[in-house]
Amino acid sequence: IVSRTLYRWWRWHDGGGLMIQGQIMNTYPEPPVTFVEGRGTVLVDSQGKEYLDFLSGLAVTSLGHARKEVVDAIATQAGVLTHVSNLYGNLVRSEVAGIIDELLFEATSVHGKVFFCNSGAEANECALKLARRMNPGRFRIVTTTKSFHGRTLATLAATGQPEKHAPFTPMPEGFDLVEFGDLDAVTKLLSTGEIAGVLVEALQAEGGINTPPKGYLPALQQACRDHGALFMVDEVQSGLGRTGAWFAFQDEDLSPDVVTLAKSLGNGMPVGACWAKEHVADMFSVGDHGSTFGGQPLAMAAAKATLETLVAIDAPQKASHASSKLAKGLSDLSGVAKVRGRGLLLGAELNEANAKEVTLAALDHGLVVNAVAPNVVRFTPPLTVSDNEIGEAILRFGGALDEVAAKGSLS
Ligand code: PLP
Repeated sequence: IVSRTLYRWWRWHDGGGLMIQGQIMNTYPEPPVTFVEGRGTVLVDSQGKEYLDFLSGLAVTSLGHARKEVVDAIATQAGVLTHVSNLYGNLVRSEVAGIIDELLFEATSVHGKVFFCNSGAEANECALKLARRMNPGRFRIVTTTKSFHGRTLATLAATGQPEKHAPFTPMPEGFDLVEFGDLDAVTKLLSTGEIAGVLVEALQAEGGINTPPKGYLPALQQACRDHGALFMVDEVQSGLGRTGAWFAFQDEDLSPDVVTLAKSLGNGMPVGACWAKEHVADMFSVGDHGSTFGGQPLAMAAAKATLETLVAIDAPQKASHASSKLAKGLSDLSGVAKVRGRGLLLGAELNEANAKEVTLAALDHGLVVNAVAPNVVRFTPPLTVSDNEIGEAILRFGGALDEVAAKGSLS
């Protein structure tokens, strides 16, 4: 008992901050700092040190921390009604579905319907179930290498990173993995007549910020149409303005049957959504799918304020404006080989496979970013980031790169 108490004390006081890891499952590494406050692009840790947040909680806080419109909407809704379940009407849920449909109608010229849930993985689960509903007798789903679709068993099986499957085999049946960008491989599978749908990220994020070859996605969409399979695009990370368009798939003028969203949809409130064209959405019958919390008034109030603010500030335009400055500044740094991605979903490809070390050094310099591949550091700042903040972030990242390079030359 004494050693357990001492251990807890040590965990509590570790680093002098409040690193309360004791009873948390071991699924994430020990946190290097603990943040206690955020405003706009700035985060403050438990020691009072300030950082520039160029990660946005994994591409979530697109409007920055504590954005007034979202804070007010959450506070007001919390005092009125937080939850009633999906067995009853809910005005704000219908409004949010309307806004999402309007954005997707503008992009695809087709109206759809929305299922609300609480995360990206759940949004993709909904898509996977829709594909089976749409194509009775077929259940296979094609996904691509280096993709990321979530951590539930089905979305993990869909995720194109077999090393993440290894500890949990056998994986659920029915997922076929093909090389991202290899059209022939998908067409071969589609021509078996067994494929219910294809799930793809229009711009891969977690897998290293990978842009598909030009023409791949339109041809993939056509191949799905030719073989009666659903063309489903995972916009969980890339959606809602981040890439300089409302959706990353607009880069090639696509019209997906299903689009999944989450991350920035609630600016930090957990909200996921699966949009499907009406004829696809209508394949679900009452009782086919559900979620206790999905679409509840509190989450929807946050989503409504977030979406309305993203529209009011012209989020895609903000992202493309900031992108040029950030991409240029990063590519001018020694140690950066090139910059990948679009808008504010960028990856700095380093000359060496030391992205983890560089992100830790960056944190020391007051910049929050993370590694998405051994040689790639992800930059996903809020879409509201200022030119000055970008300039300062580039200086801090340059300092981190120099420091790591200097250590390397000494060893
Ligand atoms: N899809 C994509 C493209 C993602 O980037 C992520 C998370 O990073 C997910 C799905 C899973 O989302 P969540 O962690 O909210 O379940």
